[in-house]
Amino acid sequence: TDIRVTYKRVLLKISGEALMGDQGYGLHPPTVARIAEEVKSVHDIGVEICMVIGGGNIFRGLQGSAQGMERTTADYMGMLATVMNALAMQSALEALGVHTRVISAIPMDQVCEPYIRRRAVRHLEKKRVCIFAAGTGNPYFTTDTAATLRASEMACEAIFKGTKVDGVYDKDPKKHDDAKRYDKVTYDEVLQKHLGVMDASAIALARDNRLPIVVFALDEPGGFRGILSGDGTYTLVG
Ligand code: UDP
Repeated sequence: TDIRVTYKRVLLKISGEALMGDQGYGLHPPTVARIAEEVKSVHDIGVEICMVIGGGNIFRGLQGSAQGMERTTADYMGMLATVMNALAMQSALEALGVHTRVISAIPMDQVCEPYIRRRAVRHLEKKRVCIFAAGTGNPYFTTDTAATLRASEMACEAIFKGTKVDGVYDKDPKKHDDAKRYDKVTYDEVLQKHLGVMDASAIALARDNRLPIVVFALDEPGGFRGILSGDGTYTLVG
């Protein structure tokens, strides 16, 4: 389970909820700024960084459709929510002097760049943080799938999934004292045991492309950089 290799390029996936702090909804600028600091600290050591941010703090397609909205319309609204989060993160990173590009799967040229794979690769080579927005651009997917897709396209060495807990557990550690954290777990185990790492299509795509997923706690200050150097606790899905 040793992940202490020197990473050249990684993708950080966070949920939209990671940006809302203690609020029940939306964006909490100090929290966004704190995560931007985490990203900067890794950027400072020369690692090329891709980011995918969810949209659940603003809108989730499934919830919208549960309330009677047409599913695909609700999903497009969810994708738009991820663009707002990406712009907030861009603003926070640039306030720290980190050059970034927001790259959307759905073109909206006045707001951000459209996704062109070769162009995104070039940005990374120039050490710009690339924030991939609007998910995959397709309804019925999640930003976890988008993260796996972009990480594969950008040839990232791993996905780092920052969550509220420090890895993957056999049951919810916030509800069960005897929950056990896995050091390492295979993609197939995640699928078979329905471990809540990412949705099944994201896990299957990661498996088929042999893309490791490192699940760690983003709440710990310095956690992202620490985990990249092999410090702290995490679960390796691979
Ligand atoms: N979404 C989508 N296609 C994608 C990515 C996202 O339709 O490729 C929509 C979907 O409705 C989803 C919402 O965007 O519920 C927000 O993304 P997600 O739920 O993955 O956000 P997170 O849970 O990571 O905050």
